[in-house]
Amino acid sequence: MDYFLSDEEKALKEKARTVAETLVKPVHCELDEKAEFPMEIVKEMGRRGLLKIFIPTEYGGTGARIMDMCIACEEVSKVCAGIATAYAVNALGSGPIVLFASEEQKKMYLPKIAVGELLCAFGLTEAQAGSDVANLQTTARKENGHYVLNGVKQFISSGSLSDVYVVLASTDRSRGARGISAFIVEKDTPGFSYGKEENKLGIRASTTTELVFEECKIPAENLMGKEGMGFIYTMRNFDRARPGVGAIALGIAQGAYELALDFIHQKNLLNNQYIQRVIADMATEVEAARALIYATARMIDAGGKNFTKEASFAKLYPADIAVKVTIQAIELLGPYGLLGEYRVEKMLRDAKITQIYEGTNQIQRAQIAIELTREMGTKHRAQKV
Ligand SMILES: Cc1cc2nc3c(=O)[nH]c(=O)nc-3n(C[C@H](O)[C@H](O)[C@H](O)COP(=O)(O)OP(=O)(O)OC[C@H]3O[C@@H](n4cnc5c(N)ncnc54)[C@H](O)[C@@H]3O)c2cc1C
Repeated sequence: MDYFLSDEEKALKEKARTVAETLVKPVHCELDEKAEFPMEIVKEMGRRGLLKIFIPTEYGGTGARIMDMCIACEEVSKVCAGIATAYAVNALGSGPIVLFASEEQKKMYLPKIAVGELLCAFGLTEAQAGSDVANLQTTARKENGHYVLNGVKQFISSGSLSDVYVVLASTDRSRGARGISAFIVEKDTPGFSYGKEENKLGIRASTTTELVFEECKIPAENLMGKEGMGFIYTMRNFDRARPGVGAIALGIAQGAYELALDFIHQKNLLNNQYIQRVIADMATEVEAARALIYATARMIDAGGKNFTKEASFAKLYPADIAVKVTIQAIELLGPYGLLGEYRVEKMLRDAKITQIYEGTNQIQRAQIAIELTREMGTKHRAQKV
């Protein structure tokens, strides 16, 4: 389908595709096997201007448009969702700085993130808190012009390899979600270390690590925005980031569909009615996912106010169809689908994770239901008036 991309968007798509074909493709299987982070590729993406798209123009970026993030993530993910995640986590990490940091904090970090001089990560999840954000155990105690952080974060993408971390910690445990605050923590801060590195099923080129805070003292100015606003900042950040996860899932699905179609065509099986039906459904679902993501991205970029529900749509559906389409692709390839060199088995492993990170798909469904209930409440109150 034609989404009438602007000339700039077409150029960005082409740039991301070139990176995917020339830098990612030759090494992605090896990096996946070794679970090795693509540091040189991410840095090169920075040099080629692909990190600038996460940053507003006044801080050296190209506008922080969600559509741009989706276009770039989709293209890289068609080849490797692990490398796409290693790249896209910089949007998740810089997002709260773009949205909520002070002018000084923005000037200090964003221009360097835009060129890949600093990589960034986002530290929310803990053993007892991911879906249940309010149950965060990491604390930040205010003391003599500093905050002192204690706690352990789990499953943090690019955890041990970033320079700047946005970390969520409770400044008032008695207030639950309203006691959570957001902080900027730089690597090498005393009391901040890295824990276990996870050995994962998929997106293995994206490192996933624990962050450990033991009496970690940071300047009071590293508080982002206001105390107690960390939960709201996190949700607003997710609203903007989730279409990007959807785009990573979409890239996986598109890549798997193309490989399967090519295989079936070469085997002269496209006249088989069963196969026609499977391929037609795959093509339709992939396109429906793309339409949903692009429409959501356009809505956000046009200044839409509340897009929580749409952001969840744009993560939930593509992640589900990525799993479905990659399984179908494996089935269409038959035994070859199980072999590493045909790459669809990796795509399935990668696809499964898109249903889990940045809020599981169960949480997306719960979020959509909350939004629908709220909308119905508003409608019924309006009818009574
Ligand atoms: C590869 C990877 C990378 C990640 N990167 C990051 C990162 O960079 N930063 C970060 O902060 N986190 C990151 N995460 C963490 C991730 O976002 C969470 O693991 C995820 O949101 C699930 O939260 P949880 O760990 O609390 O799981 P749990 O909430 O314990 O989930 C367990 C099960 O319970 C279900 N469940 C829980 N609550 C509900 C509910 N209310 N309704 C219905 N079902 C429910 C879940 O859907 C799931 O099926 C990453 C995770 C992975 C796997």
